Amino acid sequence: MPAFLSVQDLYVRFRTEDGVVQAVDGLSFELERGRTLGIVGESGSGKSVTSLAVLGLHDPRTSEVRGRILLDGQELTTASESALEKLRGDKMAMIFQDSLTALSPYYTVGRQIAEPYRKHTGASRREARQRAVEMLARVGIPTPALRVDDYPHQFSGGMRQRAMIAMALVCDPELLIADEPTTALDVTVQAQILDLLKDLQQQTGSAIVLITHDLGVVAHTVDDLLVMYAGRAVERGTAREVLRTPRHPYTWGLLGSMPRLATDADQPLVPIPGSPPSLLDPPPGCPFHPRCRHTAEVGGDRCRTERPTLGPGHGSACHLPTERTR
Ligand code: SF4
Repeated sequence: MPAFLSVQDLYVRFRTEDGVVQAVDGLSFELERGRTLGIVGESGSGKSVTSLAVLGLHDPRTSEVRGRILLDGQELTTASESALEKLRGDKMAMIFQDSLTALSPYYTVGRQIAEPYRKHTGASRREARQRAVEMLARVGIPTPALRVDDYPHQFSGGMRQRAMIAMALVCDPELLIADEPTTALDVTVQAQILDLLKDLQQQTGSAIVLITHDLGVVAHTVDDLLVMYAGRAVERGTAREVLRTPRHPYTWGLLGSMPRLATDADQPLVPIPGSPPSLLDPPPGCPFHPRCRHTAEVGGDRCRTERPTLGPGHGSACHLPTERTR
């Protein structure tokens, strides 16, 4: 039986004026209910494109999505727009990075939480308003019965983010995708929002995909980790495996450039040299080879010519021996 969310051999391509962008290139992963998967990578690695593909939000006029995305056994890549729209309210929901663009300035916060609830459950206005007050309380907004009539600009950044979480959770989705949900917030509020997501998950048993460029954010929050580079999964495992014994040179680079995870205070931070490749014309072989300091260890031309694959379990798409860790 497939996992609750099963993404199999996913390809997402965009047609642009400059050519075809291969944004996601043969990605597979699974996620069970009650677990949190962190998807980590630099911008342009394909992590947000993947989440939009799961939600069925890519425009078919400019993009091509191939592969399988199964949610609770239902195939999403071939589902109709109306079926997807129903699923996006009932079964899956998304929290975006920027609450100011996700919330309309013209409607009260309460109305924006209540409307999707009315639409998906057929509740009356009064019931939906009551539900909005409950949801604001659940995400920790003080005096929710009063704040329900506020407009987004009357909320602080942290409160808006909480309101957006309330909006996403109002129909008790079984799958929640949070795309950089705390990037715009200060560190204390970030921790509160992540704790809140974990608490809500414990209450509802939902599956969460947490997308971030910051490994420090996910270290204490996720169960499993998927590291993406140039549209591919380059390392996958439990969070403990990937963070304690990282196997892919790109993951080593991410960890080495993150102050919050530096275990040795004397160890200098080392940025990853170079920049991510153009996805209009990705490099052959291992896409990380132009930036990798370990190609000589593999030897010959292998890194430049042979595409490494991701093995099972704690896998690393790299030609180095699997026992080689940082
Ligand atoms: Fe580096 Fe080669 Fe491993 Fe790619 S396959 S990460 S280039 S050592």
